[in-house]
Amino acid sequence: MNRKFWLIIMSSILLVLSSVGWMLGCQPASNSGVGEEEDVPLAYVLPDHVRLARHRPPRAAWEPTPPDPELQIDHAGSAVHPGGYFWLIVGPVEPEDRVGTSLKTPPVFKPFSDGLRALVPVSYHEPPQTLTFNVRVFREGDEVFSETVAVEVEPREFEVQHLQVTPQLESTRTQANFQSDRKYIEKARAETHADPQWEGPFLMPVEGRFTTEFGVIRFVNDVPVGRHSGLDIAAPTGTSVMAAEAGTVRLAQELIVSGKAVIIDHGLDLFTSYLHLDEILVDVGDTVERGELIGEVGSTGFSTGPHLHWTVSIGHTPINPWLVLDAPPFESD
Ligand SMILES: [Zn+2]
Repeated sequence: MNRKFWLIIMSSILLVLSSVGWMLGCQPASNSGVGEEEDVPLAYVLPDHVRLARHRPPRAAWEPTPPDPELQIDHAGSAVHPGGYFWLIVGPVEPEDRVGTSLKTPPVFKPFSDGLRALVPVSYHEPPQTLTFNVRVFREGDEVFSETVAVEVEPREFEVQHLQVTPQLESTRTQANFQSDRKYIEKARAETHADPQWEGPFLMPVEGRFTTEFGVIRFVNDVPVGRHSGLDIAAPTGTSVMAAEAGTVRLAQELIVSGKAVIIDHGLDLFTSYLHLDEILVDVGDTVERGELIGEVGSTGFSTGPHLHWTVSIGHTPINPWLVLDAPPFESD
C-alpha cells in the first residue's frame, strides 16, 4: 500500500489527492483521472501514440518546453529562376501547430521528420527579383515563430514562338473551353500524397523530338496567348507514353483543349500532366511505377500534330521540367 502510495505521489499531485480521498472513503467521481486531460497544458498537445496525458501530471516548472521552430530553405541547383522552385522546412513543430506564409499561392505543407515541409514554385511570370516573404508558426493561436526570408530569383530568357493555325482549330481556344478543362484539372490536383512517391530524377516520358520548350512566350495567329506550360515532344501517333515517376493517377479523361489527358500525383503537391494523347491506358486511382505505360501519343484537343505536351507542376504552377529530369525534386541534405 505504501509503495503504491509513493508511486502515485511521484506521478501526480492530483492522483495523490484523489487517492487520499479514496482512503478517506470518498470515491472519486470516476477512476479515469477526471480533470487531468484539461490540466495538460494546451500549448503542448502530444500526438495520440505518445499521449500519456491521461496519467500525466501538469507540466512541472523543471520540464523542458518544446523547442522553437527553425526554418530551412534550400533549392535544387545553383540558383532559382522564373519557372524554378525551392523548398521550405519548418521544425520542430507540435502536431496542432499551424504554419502560414505571405506567399501569393499558399504552399502545401506536409509532415517531415519532426516538422513540416513544402515545395514552393516560382512562376515563369515572376520577374527576376529578391522574393521576400514571411513564414509564421502559430500554436494555439499564439505566434511562436516568424521569419522573413529572401530568395534571389535570377534572370532567365524565354523564347518567343508564333503559331499559325486554322480558324477551326483556333475556335477550340475559348474561355469557356479552358474553364471546362480547368475545373477537372483543379479537382485532380486538389489531393496529394504527404510523402514523395519518387525515388530519383524523373524519366523523359516519351522518345521524340523537342518542339516547344517550357515557358515559351506564345502567339497564336499573331495574338499573344500566354506561356507554354510544359515541354512539347513530337512523336508518331501511338508512341508509348510512360509515367515520369511513381505516383497515383488523379485524372484520366478527355478534355476540350488538352485532349485526352492523364495527371499523376507524385506527392508533396508535385504533379505531371500528359496531354493530347491518342489513347489513355490508366484509370483514376491507379498506382503507377516509374516508366509504366500510361498512354499513347496523339493529337487530341488543341494540337497541330501528334506530340506529347508534358507539364510538371507544383500545385497549379508549372515548373521547368528539366529541373526534375536532372535531379530529384527534393533533397533533404
Ligand atoms: Zn504544348
